[in-house]
Amino acid sequence: MSGTLYLVPTPIGNLGDISQRARDTLAQADFLAAEDTRVTLKLLNHLGLHKPLLSYYEHNKVQRGGQIVERLLSGESCALVTDAGTPAISDPGEDLVRLCAQAGVPVCPIPGPCAAVTAISASGLPTGRFCFEGFLSTAKKSRRAHLESLRDEKRTMIFYEAPHKLLATLEDLVAVFGPDRPIALCRELTKVHEEFFRTTLSQALAHYRENPPRGEFVLVLAGAPEEKAPEASAAQAAQRVAELMSQGLSRKDAVKQTAQELGLSRNAVYGAALEE
Ligand code: SAM
Repeated sequence: MSGTLYLVPTPIGNLGDISQRARDTLAQADFLAAEDTRVTLKLLNHLGLHKPLLSYYEHNKVQRGGQIVERLLSGESCALVTDAGTPAISDPGEDLVRLCAQAGVPVCPIPGPCAAVTAISASGLPTGRFCFEGFLSTAKKSRRAHLESLRDEKRTMIFYEAPHKLLATLEDLVAVFGPDRPIALCRELTKVHEEFFRTTLSQALAHYRENPPRGEFVLVLAGAPEEKAPEASAAQAAQRVAELMSQGLSRKDAVKQTAQELGLSRNAVYGAALEE
């Protein structure tokens, strides 16, 4: 019978955030696969654990992934850890999980620290629907293309960002989403200098032009505001939809025609008609 791959999240700053289950899983695994064995060794020393360590990172993941799956298939269990946070989230692990799934090796995720979830929970922005966008490219062209693809995104968006790229990213965010879009810049989460800067894009840019950014950042950006017809035209739109429907048009066609006549979006007209 094959062993199990355990995905073990580690603290993103505060060592107290390691859970009992994460600790037990590390202690019981036959071997650990770690992004940077030196970083993981420090954590193991803190926990008083001595475990066989294997490196698994971006540049050896193809060859190493196969070796790990073979060991799992032969019955050993493996705990995958990265430098900080949840494996496979903007970190090595995604490919190993896929290989295991393909080989029929059980994958057991242990819940724990993740910068994206920690940030959005305290961002003050809507959390009902959000999308995780990971790191933006360092190349200006593809970074802008990525952001352009999100221009009409209504969900709250989460980005990871390095401090030395923050200003360039804020400039691009202003260009694509406008100066007034709300943003929460969540810095040094769980650490001594933890900070939540809840502001707008233009104010964030002005602030960090004056105060060079330091530390680790998660950017939580508000989605595009829901389009709503202005009050007067909402009533007007609803009335026109009703009129057209009484003349025999389907709701869909009435909404379409009203939108064209009043220069409103179909969504706004539909919303107005429903409210009425
Ligand atoms: N797998 C990790 C997780 O679950 O969050 C993310 C790893 S990714 C390589 C590292 C990025 O996560 C950083 O560049 C930063 O954007 C974010 N991050 C990690 N720790 C953070 C912290 N303590 N405060 C703010 N952002 C952090």
